[in-house]
Amino acid sequence: MLKYYPQFCQAAVFATVILIIIYFMKQNYSTKQGKVFVLLMLDCLVSSGLNILTLYTISFPERYPMWVNYLSNQVYLLLFNMMAVLFLYYVDVMTKRSRMKIPVRVAIIGILLVDCVLLFSSPVTHLTIYFNENLEYSHGPLMITLYLTAFLAISMAAGICAVSWKRFNRFQVFAVVGFVGGIFVSLIYQVTHPAYVITNLTCALMLFFLYSSFENPAYYTYNNTRCFNRRAFLLTIHKYKKRGSAYEIIAVKMADFDNLVSSFGQDNAYLISSKVADRLNERFNKRAYCISMNCFAIISDSLDQSEEYVERVRDCFTDAFRVDKETEVLKVAVDAVIKLIPITTQEIDGLEMEEILHSVMDSSSDDVFVAEDIEQLVEEVHRKRKISRIVGDAIKNGRFEVYYQPIYNIKEKRFTSAEALVRLQDEEFGYISPEEFIPIAERSGQIDAIGEIVFRKVCEFMRSSGCLELGVRYIEVNLSPVQCRRMEISETYYEVMKKYEIKPEWINLEITETAEMEPASVLRLTDIMNQMHNKGISFSIDDFGSGFAAIDYLVKLPVDLVKIDKGILWQAMEDPIAMVVLKNTIEMIKTIGRKIVVEGVETEEMANILIESGCDYLQGYLYSKPIPEEQYVDYLRKHHAVGQA
Ligand code: C2E
Ligand code: CA
Ligand code: CA
Repeated sequence: MLKYYPQFCQAAVFATVILIIIYFMKQNYSTKQGKVFVLLMLDCLVSSGLNILTLYTISFPERYPMWVNYLSNQVYLLLFNMMAVLFLYYVDVMTKRSRMKIPVRVAIIGILLVDCVLLFSSPVTHLTIYFNENLEYSHGPLMITLYLTAFLAISMAAGICAVSWKRFNRFQVFAVVGFVGGIFVSLIYQVTHPAYVITNLTCALMLFFLYSSFENPAYYTYNNTRCFNRRAFLLTIHKYKKRGSAYEIIAVKMADFDNLVSSFGQDNAYLISSKVADRLNERFNKRAYCISMNCFAIISDSLDQSEEYVERVRDCFTDAFRVDKETEVLKVAVDAVIKLIPITTQEIDGLEMEEILHSVMDSSSDDVFVAEDIEQLVEEVHRKRKISRIVGDAIKNGRFEVYYQPIYNIKEKRFTSAEALVRLQDEEFGYISPEEFIPIAERSGQIDAIGEIVFRKVCEFMRSSGCLELGVRYIEVNLSPVQCRRMEISETYYEVMKKYEIKPEWINLEITETAEMEPASVLRLTDIMNQMHNKGISFSIDDFGSGFAAIDYLVKLPVDLVKIDKGILWQAMEDPIAMVVLKNTIEMIKTIGRKIVVEGVETEEMANILIESGCDYLQGYLYSKPIPEEQYVDYLRKHHAVGQA
């Protein structure tokens, strides 16, 4: 009689128990794939345990009733084959290939049916396993079928993985190949060396592979915390949409996050954000999600718990957050901005909800604010999506136009420049303002294409219109800081200028200051601006005075011109204190030797005040609205001859 070595099975039980403990110690986001993985682990554990029992029943069949001998072997073999079947199902759930759904289901049911019939009829038919008259454990003629069905399931899973390999990263490919290969090799070894029962141990070890590459909880949690992340949030919203029940989102934002970054540095701000995530997770056990560094969401199943939830959020922010700097320990107080979003409509998917969250967060500065009109918010989000589609079409079909708004040179009493402004007309929506579509394009990444199209059109226009002969020295073109994520931007612009033989000094790029830029992005922006500036392109800061980082930009960036925001001018016309601020701002910019443009000049009175204060250029409806190319050239002809406005 063959002597079996049950130690391998014991090791398999041990390894699987460890894996199960590791798995449940981490915060797991519940997905279908995760549930199948749990089944795989349990199957591996139970079948390894049963395998130990079967080794005893095979070795000493006379000690147990016959039905125990049979049942332990039947169930063990079934559960062992189930692992192959579960792996196939796992791969199916993970890759979500709709075309494979039916074949996989048919295969799974077929395999289980065949295995069950063959195994459980065996005491009578002796087709797969049986104990002969000497009570020796033996294999029947169709035992091979059991191997073949397992082989079929594993091969099918391998095939699905092979056609989906593009969705996996390198480690995941390695894990799948390892899993499949490991099991085949161990099966062959098992058949040739029946005494060494190693297949269960191989399966247990292969599960570690799968765990570390596909079931890593870090995939769904935020930055080493136990708080769920944005990916988990999107999936949860999707589940609510499917379920169709009402729920409420308590949106939480860390107030003044930019200040936090500039006072304590990026790393510490990140650390504080992680601590907020941890505290929220503690209070809201598996209901808190971190959407972005400073934005969190808590999802509540019912609409009438909000007061209690808001209190709980407040509690999280009562104590200051500890930051260990190299030399000192700081305690940083953080305030929370809380908004409630009751969701009664089921039409919202994860990405839409994220948009809604951001727009609610940016909307009102009230401490706790309830977004009552969810329908309107959904409509806004749908409009944004549509506009993004229209912008995409316009990029493809070249439907953007560029208008020019003349800029008045006070000293020369002539129009020596203009601002190029993009225009978009749509059949359904009519005129869409750049105020609306530029921010959308900045988020979707379409801004790169728009910026390039506008720049190309401006260069083409300067080359062909004769505007230079009509007194124009340069055209101001808007450059979104988002475009400067791409390091090639300066080369791209240079090539366009070369193509149309445009000199760098004919171009002025307007950069809008944005409060949201991270320090690293500001560094990159500075880099790109310096590159272009060294080649002769001049720069303006746009909307000066409307943001936060204005002074910082003025010091750090190579800026020639400062464009004071129209809002500042309009406010000054209403409020004497704002007028003092405006005049002092102009004085300050002049002192550091930069030229000044003021936009939004609508009246003679405004123009006179600005001329007296010593500005250099004026832009506004008083002179002209932005106008199409030909009209602009006509305008130049008319005013060039007269030599004044
Ligand atoms: P901006 O760069 O501050 O452009 C000035 C805006 O003020 C223009 O609005 C212009 O029409 C308007 N404006 C100028 N003078 C007056 C005035 O006297 N009264 C009033 N009420 N408005 C005046 P527009 O064309 O709607 O553009 C809005 C914004 O869209 C621009 O603000 C700019 O940030 C962005 N934008 C426009 N074209 C482009 C582009 O080609 N690229 C990028 N990145 N952004 C663009
Ligand atoms: Ca501008
Ligand atoms: Ca502006």
